[in-house]
Amino acid sequence: MNNTLTIALSKGRIFKETLPLLKHAGIEPLDDPETSRKLILDTNHDNVKLVIIRASDVPTYVQYGAADLGVAGKDVLMEHGGEGVYEPLDLHIAKCKLMTAGFKNAPPVNGRLRVATKFVNCARRYFADKGQQVEVIKLYGSMELAPIVGLADIIVDVVDTGNTLRANGLEPQEHIADISSRLIVNKASMKMKHEQVKNLIDLVAEAVAK
Ligand code: AMP
Repeated sequence: MNNTLTIALSKGRIFKETLPLLKHAGIEPLDDPETSRKLILDTNHDNVKLVIIRASDVPTYVQYGAADLGVAGKDVLMEHGGEGVYEPLDLHIAKCKLMTAGFKNAPPVNGRLRVATKFVNCARRYFADKGQQVEVIKLYGSMELAPIVGLADIIVDVVDTGNTLRANGLEPQEHIADISSRLIVNKASMKMKHEQVKNLIDLVAEAVAK
């Protein structure tokens, strides 16, 4: 195993909010992913690289060791299942809630409730735990549209201010989980690159606690 540390991040909010934490650990990227088309960013350390990928792919890259570490939302981790990764640190960034949402005062549904979501595993688990039989419909985005056009009765989505729901005539209903981004580590990297990984976790933890 080489001594390069690869950290998987997604563009946007997670990247922006992780940057100061990495900076505290002495790691600064040499490019900005918002303006660069590079998928692998060099940093001020020859042996630390950042890979810029879709948020939902971060656990997979870390699980298979394509990245040693990554930053992923708890929603994404719950959906992935967390196989092959450790989750040593809550970064307390990109906070929101995973919730059900639907029309206010919606009439009771005859038969199985139809639930549209991109979080199909989370939704199935949530309703199974409640002993409620539902039909889960997988979507990749714009979940708010599904109840409006009659594709589903309710949705499961991440909610921050609730403005997107309200703008579409929906309201947040049942709270499923509090979400924040987590630092995750490949299980083999934790063993094989223990000193490097542990040092990085400690420095990032220090930045989170500040
Ligand atoms: P809201 O503030 O509730 O209107 O949030 C708008 C949209 O932004 C939501 O529907 C989500 O798709 C997305 N969103 C908000 N916060 C987060 C977060 N922490 N992680 C991922 N997506 C988010």
